[in-house]
Amino acid sequence: MASELHKLSVCEARDLLRKREVSSREITRACLDRIAEVEPRLNAFITVCEREALEQADAADRRLASGDGAPPMCGIPIALKDIYCTRGVRTTCASKILDNFVPPFDATVVAKLREEGAVFLGKTNMDEFAMGSSTENSAFGPTRNPYDLERVAGGSSGGSAAAVAADECLAALGTDTGGSIREPASFCGVVGIKPTYSRVSRYGVIAYASSLDQVGPFAKTVRDAALLLRALAGVDPRDSTCSARPVPDYEKALIGEVHGLRIGVPKEFFVEGMAPDVERAVRDALRQYESIGARLVDISLPHTPYAVACYYLVATAEASANLARYDGIRYGFRAEADNTEDLYNRSRARGFGAEVKRRIMLGTFALSAGYYDAYYLKAQKVRTLIRRDFERAFASSDVIVAPVAPTTAFRLGEKTEDPLTMYLSDIFTISVNLAGLPAMSVPCGYDGGGLPIGMQIIGPAFSEETLFRVGDAYERSRTGKGRPAKV
Ligand code: GLN
Repeated sequence: MASELHKLSVCEARDLLRKREVSSREITRACLDRIAEVEPRLNAFITVCEREALEQADAADRRLASGDGAPPMCGIPIALKDIYCTRGVRTTCASKILDNFVPPFDATVVAKLREEGAVFLGKTNMDEFAMGSSTENSAFGPTRNPYDLERVAGGSSGGSAAAVAADECLAALGTDTGGSIREPASFCGVVGIKPTYSRVSRYGVIAYASSLDQVGPFAKTVRDAALLLRALAGVDPRDSTCSARPVPDYEKALIGEVHGLRIGVPKEFFVEGMAPDVERAVRDALRQYESIGARLVDISLPHTPYAVACYYLVATAEASANLARYDGIRYGFRAEADNTEDLYNRSRARGFGAEVKRRIMLGTFALSAGYYDAYYLKAQKVRTLIRRDFERAFASSDVIVAPVAPTTAFRLGEKTEDPLTMYLSDIFTISVNLAGLPAMSVPCGYDGGGLPIGMQIIGPAFSEETLFRVGDAYERSRTGKGRPAKV
């Protein structure tokens, strides 16, 4: 058994740890061995923290031995996207400009998990500053898809998704600004949830677009994701946008029942040009829901065609402001220069990758005098229209079910030459961020080539309990179970 411990789900590990049938050191060792085995092929991690992880596992084992009061995450080995500040552990955001940055503090969610006794295996690969949909924009090379090494893992949290799919860790954290949890989860056949904006603290999470960024987990099952979100969510005095609403016990919501549930099916999310296998899998899932008592309702989200343009104005405008802090002075990479202005210019020119520079320029342009009204202000108005589309849709439906992405994982290099085609792969995920809503990606089948397909369950603000219930009910009712990654 010991050699298979990396395959455990979080809930299975929690129960075995409680019963003292396995130790956290054994599970952690199994994950580290698995990491050593597959990393040369996958490149899901930027930094692996072997010594620290084993120390944390031993501490967790002592805590578990001392009584029955250990919190749910105690002794569970997980991975963190390299966007989370981790005290004493290098945090790069997959950028050369933060290559040597070792934060003196933990992000709030990291501190919370540390307090619960979670074990941190390392920091996962991502698109630089979370800008991308394939993890190809990383200064540390792309992550490969565990189901097909010639294909992308999705992005920007591709390393976290691949690490969970390949059983390198039991679960992982990502961030989602425009789909960066849901799309890689879909491409790698794992569960990923982007909670309601403000549900989880963003303190210590390196900012991309602050009005859209949200923290969330990747997991092997919906139940695991529910357990993790409970550990992450909740008020934080260090993040003034963070909600004070009490955090429900999400696991309790998993009653396996969707009788009478109204599922909205948005016509704009089933468009010409999407992969037929993706449409088929999501429609099969919808039929499956009907067979267990849910009702399908046709809905419309009419402003969906404007979402990509709107998002790439809002997100780049916010990014151009957020990334102004990387100037070579305070932290990160510093180029040689004779005067301050040259120091700024050279540090930024050499430190940032091409996509990040493109976004800073786009955002600066959209905010500049003379163009502000035409671009940024207009985009904010469209954002309001998109939010209203969802409000209207939720008058007649409890949740919306749709594809996560128009295709399964694409080939490495397929979209890198043309940023616009890359941006278009976000078409079904970004309107959810613009509206601040929660949405979860749940595996719902495979395409003809054996690549995973994900469906997206979207709900009104703070409806995470419903999303977990609906996702879990599907998981339970599914006859064909998931296929393991081949890596
Ligand atoms: N692909 C989108 C972008 O590049 C979303 C990224 C994200 O959610 N961080 O902006």
